[in-house]
Amino acid sequence: NPDLTRFGEQMSHLTGVRAIMKDIIETLEADRGREFINLSAGNPVILPEVEQLWRDCTAELLSSSEYGEVVCRYGSSQGYQPLIDAVIEDFNKRYGLNLNSHNILIAPGSQAIYFFAANAFGGYTSDGTLKKIVLPLSPDYTGYGGVSLVPEALVSYKPALEVDPLHHQFKYRPDFSQLEIDETTGCVIFSRPCNPTGNVLTDEEVNKITALANAFDVPVLIDSAYAPPFPALNFTAMTPVFGGNAIHCMSLSKAGLPGERIGIAIGEKPVIQALQSFQTNLCIHSSRYGQAIAARAIASGALSEIALNVIRPHYQQKFDVLEDTLAQAMPKDVPWFLHRGEGAIFAWLWFRDLPITDWELYQQIKEVGVIVVPGESFFPGLQEDWSHKKQCLRVSLTATNLEIATGMRRLAEIVDRVYQRV
Ligand code: PLP
Repeated sequence: NPDLTRFGEQMSHLTGVRAIMKDIIETLEADRGREFINLSAGNPVILPEVEQLWRDCTAELLSSSEYGEVVCRYGSSQGYQPLIDAVIEDFNKRYGLNLNSHNILIAPGSQAIYFFAANAFGGYTSDGTLKKIVLPLSPDYTGYGGVSLVPEALVSYKPALEVDPLHHQFKYRPDFSQLEIDETTGCVIFSRPCNPTGNVLTDEEVNKITALANAFDVPVLIDSAYAPPFPALNFTAMTPVFGGNAIHCMSLSKAGLPGERIGIAIGEKPVIQALQSFQTNLCIHSSRYGQAIAARAIASGALSEIALNVIRPHYQQKFDVLEDTLAQAMPKDVPWFLHRGEGAIFAWLWFRDLPITDWELYQQIKEVGVIVVPGESFFPGLQEDWSHKKQCLRVSLTATNLEIATGMRRLAEIVDRVYQRV
């Protein structure tokens, strides 16, 4: 085996949820005869209407004269021009913006955008100063845990909790009394709607964060992988934020195209250029086939329509099934709380004073044939010891109604037993 550099070693570590996914795959393989209800998936459901849309766009591309240009040629590392044009036209019209080509970067998946940004703006500057990558509201997307080549640059902040004990509900809020964004900050990143919690920061909270960052010229990457206009996986009203130091980052993965790796960043020219330089060195550009079919789906308006009429209702209904089942099945005297379901494709549960760890709870739930994800890996950058980190579970909404209902009933039995034992 070759010697690895520090970066090589760092990248080889299974960060966050990837380590758990390994355990899940091993469980599924070791126990092949057993029927598991898998509520761990982050992969979106293949919805027939969505698959058909991509099939139709592909058929159109295949029969067009554009095909050779798309797959037989390199292109600009900024992205395929028809996709850039489609995004500009759609967003200018939809949100009354004044975007031009300099404001857009197409990347091979939005994960790549966070990697570029984390290392272009976070880490050590040429004079040796450490610039932090600030995650203002923990928990957040586990994938941020591996994006920096300088792990000590990643810092996240404990949330304030808004709890409704009567309805077993809660919501995280950014704790502005703690949050520090200043000259030591390189960039800010958060997901809205949030994976894993389904939280949607209010417009006011977002404006407060961008204003804090603006004072120090700090870019704020708003991870909109679940936001409107596509995939529109918000179940509560929210307005995307553009302009100034905000960078609106989209992904087509939850709009049915995770395999084609399309991420889109919208922001001011200097930031877009810095990200683009990273991309040129890394991979030249994203796949043009994916970009060409995305251009068609966006320009025709079909993608935003399917997002609104098919993708959003599908997952919203799953959340309702989960919420109703838990309300019926969970023991009344246990302090369990479901995070308000404001978007994304997950539900997030918190068990206050849980007598065991989230990892042990996950193992016990596995014993009854249900796989969820223990919560601890969703606190990247939060070093401090906080019992809450080991009291949560993430449940995927990608299963069938029956699987979700059965899974939640079995979970309720385990939770009842775990609290009764003390
Ligand atoms: N951001 C969030 C919040 C996600 O949930 C995901 C994927 O699950 C990503 C980014 C990465 O998405 P992409 O496929 O665009 O790289």
